[in-house]
Amino acid sequence: YAPLAEIDPEVKNIIDKETWRQLTGLELIASENLTSRAAMEANGSILTNKYSEGLPNARYYGGNEYVDELEILCRKRALQAFNLDPAKWGVNVQPYSGSTANFAALTALIQPNDRLMGLGLPDGGHLTHGYYTAKKKMTASSIYFQSFPYSIVPDTGLIDYPKLEATAKVFKPRLIICGASAYPRDWDYEHLKKIATQEGAWLMADIAHTSGLVAAAELKNPFDYCDVVTTTTHKTLRGPRAGLIFFRKDLENAKDLEKRVNEAVFPACQGGPHNNTIAAIATALKQVADPSWKAYAKQVIANARALADALVAHGYKLQTGGTDNHLVLWDLRPIGLTGSKVEKVCDFMGITINKNAVSGDASAQVPGGIRLGTSALTSRDMREDDIKQVAEFLHRAVQISLVLQKEAGSKLLKDFARVATTPEEGKVGHQQVKALRDEV
Ligand code: PLP
Repeated sequence: YAPLAEIDPEVKNIIDKETWRQLTGLELIASENLTSRAAMEANGSILTNKYSEGLPNARYYGGNEYVDELEILCRKRALQAFNLDPAKWGVNVQPYSGSTANFAALTALIQPNDRLMGLGLPDGGHLTHGYYTAKKKMTASSIYFQSFPYSIVPDTGLIDYPKLEATAKVFKPRLIICGASAYPRDWDYEHLKKIATQEGAWLMADIAHTSGLVAAAELKNPFDYCDVVTTTTHKTLRGPRAGLIFFRKDLENAKDLEKRVNEAVFPACQGGPHNNTIAAIATALKQVADPSWKAYAKQVIANARALADALVAHGYKLQTGGTDNHLVLWDLRPIGLTGSKVEKVCDFMGITINKNAVSGDASAQVPGGIRLGTSALTSRDMREDDIKQVAEFLHRAVQISLVLQKEAGSKLLKDFARVATTPEEGKVGHQQVKALRDEV
């Protein structure tokens, strides 16, 4: 029971450095958030020791009376957080991550080699929604199923629902997946349900990115239209890293959906649940159920809008022109920059963002945009005025990137690259960073 610092100072030191990075930098990665100390305490608890394959009251191991109590509590809170009637909806809280939740949902809903349609990765979809390239089937969702992506309208950046409907008529998918990793607008679930019904397909929403906002009823409700809803628990939901699968219990033609989902998670895709994580999910969901959550979700969106407005005011181009949710997709191509350049400069400035494909990118390897999200900064209690300041920093990062691009090969660029890639920054590194920044 000796503390980490004593047993393993090397790992402790790395964790301390990462803590410092997270607390002193500006976190703008749209898929990240800052979970609570309480959730982290649950996640780091003794529950990690326990094996509990199976479901509450039906385990393959003894000693699960408290773990059963925990999983039942977590399920109850998950349904409460999304205001779901337990007679109509059930939830599996065991998925280790969003990817395993999605693959388990696919396993439950369709057969190997069946057809599915999801938003293409370059258009903002996720890998697990059937992604493949011309050269390779990259993901299990395209290896084991036949997938055909739908897309956004290049000019507007909005989902091309008429084209999706026309394609579905020809492709005849068994499953349509909605939800995305980089789509700044809300979804027309009603239209998607109509298309799915026409084709006799399941409709699944992956609300990994937006679930915290959906729970607060700040976005449209996918549960009104979808058969299955999956989510991660660590993005806008602000919990530990894991996944959830919600399934309908009241479908006349699929009374066995609950059994199918539960068996798809275990034993089809996973082994023993991570009970420490389930405890942390339960704690995070308690926070979601608190009235203060609504204010948080509202602020996340207000901050994303403030960020979008400030960037547009500087003359920059955003995909779809703005945002309905927590994220902003910034198209850098009109000013002649790539996402990776700006990502690097931002790293150097202590601002964490990620390069991202934008509509019409010639190559997925060189994305022309960046994705920004406001969930983490809002968890640090930032408001619109703070975000306007962050937008000014981003503007400066872009201006610096342009200078560096123009001065390719110059001493300034070399110094910059050296400092920016030095792993052991320490104090000296930061003085250099400051000096260079001033010089720029
Ligand atoms: N679904 C969506 C829409 C995502 O954006 C992500 C991750 O970014 C996932 C699923 C996968 O989640 P995980 O990384 O927990 O496997």
